[in-house]
Amino acid sequence: MNEYDSRIIENLMLRKGFDLSNNPEDADIVVINTCSVRGKPESKGIEVAKHFKKRGKLVVITGCTAQQKGDNLLNVADLVIGTRNFQIIPEAIKKGYRNKSFLDLKTFCDFYFAERRAETVLEYVVIQEGCDNFCSYCVVPYTRGREVSRPPEKILEELKYLESKGVKEVTLLGQNVNSYYYGSIDFADLLAMVDKKVNIPRIYFTTSHPRDISLKVIRTIKNCLHVKPWFHLPLQAGSSKVLRDMNRGYTKEEYLEIAMKIRREIPNATISTDIMVGFPTETEEDFEETLDVVRKVQFDNAYMFIYSPRNPSPMYFRVKEASLDEETASKRLRRLIVEVNRNILERRKMMLNREYELLIYGPSKKSSKYSKGKTENNITVVVQGSFKEGDFVSVKVTRISGLTPIGLPQKAGVPVTSE
Ligand code: SF4
Repeated sequence: MNEYDSRIIENLMLRKGFDLSNNPEDADIVVINTCSVRGKPESKGIEVAKHFKKRGKLVVITGCTAQQKGDNLLNVADLVIGTRNFQIIPEAIKKGYRNKSFLDLKTFCDFYFAERRAETVLEYVVIQEGCDNFCSYCVVPYTRGREVSRPPEKILEELKYLESKGVKEVTLLGQNVNSYYYGSIDFADLLAMVDKKVNIPRIYFTTSHPRDISLKVIRTIKNCLHVKPWFHLPLQAGSSKVLRDMNRGYTKEEYLEIAMKIRREIPNATISTDIMVGFPTETEEDFEETLDVVRKVQFDNAYMFIYSPRNPSPMYFRVKEASLDEETASKRLRRLIVEVNRNILERRKMMLNREYELLIYGPSKKSSKYSKGKTENNITVVVQGSFKEGDFVSVKVTRISGLTPIGLPQKAGVPVTSE
C-alpha cells in the first residue's frame, strides 16, 4: 500500500511541475512516506526526516507515522500530511505553508486514477481504504481511518487504463478486501466483473481477512481466467485464546477450515501468511498451536515477526511492554522460521520437473545470466537466461536452491542473452 501511495505522490508532484531527483541528498524537497506497523520502520522514518531537516531541506512527512504522531513531528518536518491528504502536498509547498499539518481522516480522496502513470509491468489498484477490524495489536484503523470501498466503475476504469498501457500484472489492494462492499456488489461480484471485463493476464488481491473470506470468493476465483489463485491469509497466531485476545474474529479451527477449503477447491492455489510471535498473552502451549497450524496448512510463503507494542492499539494500553522477554520471543521466532521453511521446502519440491509459465520481472540478484519471474500462483522462480521484464517464459523447474525453484526455459520467450 505504501509503495503504491509513494508512486501516486511522485506522479502528483511531477504533474504539478516538480522534478524528481534520483538522489535525495541533491533534492530541495524531501517527501518521506512512513510506515508505523512496527516500531522499527516508524523510528527509521523519523530518523530520515531528522537527517534531511538538519541538512536544510524542506521536509514533508506523510503516511501512517505522520497520521499517528501529527503535530509532534513538526520538529523534524516542515509539513505533516496524513494518509488521506496526499493531494494537498504540491499546493501546500507552493503556497509556502510551513510548520503545518493536514490530518483529516474523514474524506476518502479518490484521486488515484488521475494521478497514475503505468510504467511498470507489475501495478497496483486500490479498491478499498482503511479498516474497521480493530485487531488489538494494530494501528491501521487509527492511521488509515475507517473502511471505505471504491465504486466498481472507478476500479474498472483504472484497470482498463492499465490494460491499455500493456501492464501484465495488477494487485487489487485493500486492508481487508473480502469485506469490499459497494451498493449490492460484494468482493466476489467485483472479482467476477473484473475478470470478465479486464484483459490483464494476471490479477491478484491482498489482503484477505480469514474471518471474511467466503466460499463464494473461493469458487469465483476457481472460475476466473485472469484472477489468479494466490491467497494471502494472515494467521497471526494458531491458538484460539491468543486469536481472541488479538480480536481477530476466528478460531484456530475456523482458520484451518478456510485453508482446507481453498486447498480442496483449488489444488494449485498458493497460501501465504503473516505470523506474529510473542504476543503478550502467548504461552509456550499457545506457540505450539501456531506450529501445529503451520504443519497442517503448509504455507507457500510467510512473513514472520515478533510482536511490537503499537500506540494507540488497545493492547498497547493493556500491556505497554511486551510481557515476553526478548530472548524467549527471538527463540520462538527462530523455531517458527525453521518450521515454516521446512514446510515451504516440501511445497517447493512438488514443483520439480513441472512446467510453469513465468512472468519475468527482472534480472536475478545473484547473476545477470539468470532472470527472476513469478508463476501464475505467485511463486518466484529463477530461470536461466536473461529475459526482458514483462516476457512470459515457459520454464521447467529442475532444482531448488534454498527455497527458490530454479528452472530452464522451455519454448516461449527468447532470451536477450543466455548461457
Ligand atoms: S484487519 Fe486487523 S491487522 Fe489488518 S489492518 Fe485491520 S486492524 Fe490491522
